Amino acid sequence: MTNKSKKVVLIGTGMVGMSFAYAALNQNVCDELVLIDVDRLRAEGEAMDLNHGLAFSGTSMKIYAGQYSDCKDADIVVICAGVNQKPGETRLELLGRNADVFRTIVSPVVESGFGGLFLVATNPVDIMTRLTYELSGFEACKVLGTGTTLDTARLRYLLGEYFNLDPRNVHAYVVGEHGDSEFTPWSQALLSTKPVLHVLRDNPQKFRLADLEDISIEVRNAAQKIIEAKRATYYGIGMAITRIVRAILSDEHSVLTVSARLTGEYGIENVYMGNPCIIGRNGVDRQIELSLTAAELQKLHHSCKVLDESYSKLKPSADT
Ligand code: NAD
Repeated sequence: MTNKSKKVVLIGTGMVGMSFAYAALNQNVCDELVLIDVDRLRAEGEAMDLNHGLAFSGTSMKIYAGQYSDCKDADIVVICAGVNQKPGETRLELLGRNADVFRTIVSPVVESGFGGLFLVATNPVDIMTRLTYELSGFEACKVLGTGTTLDTARLRYLLGEYFNLDPRNVHAYVVGEHGDSEFTPWSQALLSTKPVLHVLRDNPQKFRLADLEDISIEVRNAAQKIIEAKRATYYGIGMAITRIVRAILSDEHSVLTVSARLTGEYGIENVYMGNPCIIGRNGVDRQIELSLTAAELQKLHHSCKVLDESYSKLKPSADT
């Protein structure tokens, strides 16, 4: 990434992609935003619509419908293209359908001469990110997914409600698969500087571990609940993508639970999963290996196993 203007290419201008684009415009995270979709007319219409809001935005962002050659000098390619989760469908069931979509996307991006970072949001996000890593041949630190950033935001919001505390002072993470096997390692959760488990111990009449487990379940089921109510989720993930893009473009070194490739952390290699990572200009600067209890480590290994098995089913075609 150079000192030139900050350029982001968005591939997939559906609900998630455009929620990101809208948040990015309002938060002024980049100087140039290129929209690409297999439905060219849709990308053009979205670019027009956003451009008509520019006068109210306080930015002079350049927004246009483009093509894969526009990725050449981009800092980040955000991929939100794909098919959506149907009611009752697990994220992993989406895998086959979205893998085919990715094969038509990653090659032309790489062939453009792109040398920036891939940020993937399409579900199942951990698998799609790993597929992007394999298909692109990029360094692992330059290929990341939204992982459990949204789940972590949901967790912090709900814990904030429960403990009557600003979510920004809740330091707790959802880790593992963005999906059914994700979990919250409570041993690592802090309210300000105090471990959550100590808060429970000191206030047994007020707070209970069972309530926290219910919150964890609520976080896990949130997407399904929203899909049942309004068919898709997009605002929250759009803002999560914006948050990650800002951390990268501003070289923040912020900790976010993106989907990143494990390289021996927790005794696991190659699997992409949500884990607290330090995010800056070069993507994943460092992974933070949490000091998990034996039971939590078991959950993490289970989550990785689920992800690895799904990916293995895909692998023969991923290598072609
Ligand atoms: P959508 O159907 O509204 O949009 C998908 C877009 O992708 C469409 O505009 C479609 O034309 C485009 N597309 C399809 N194939 C393409 C191709 N080959 N090249 C370019 N564009 C192509 O769907 P959505 O609601 O925006 O969801 C997008 C993805 O985001 C889904 O996989 C969904 O499950 C996922 N999602 C992820 C999270 C998360 O936390 N990571 C949260 C919500 C949704």
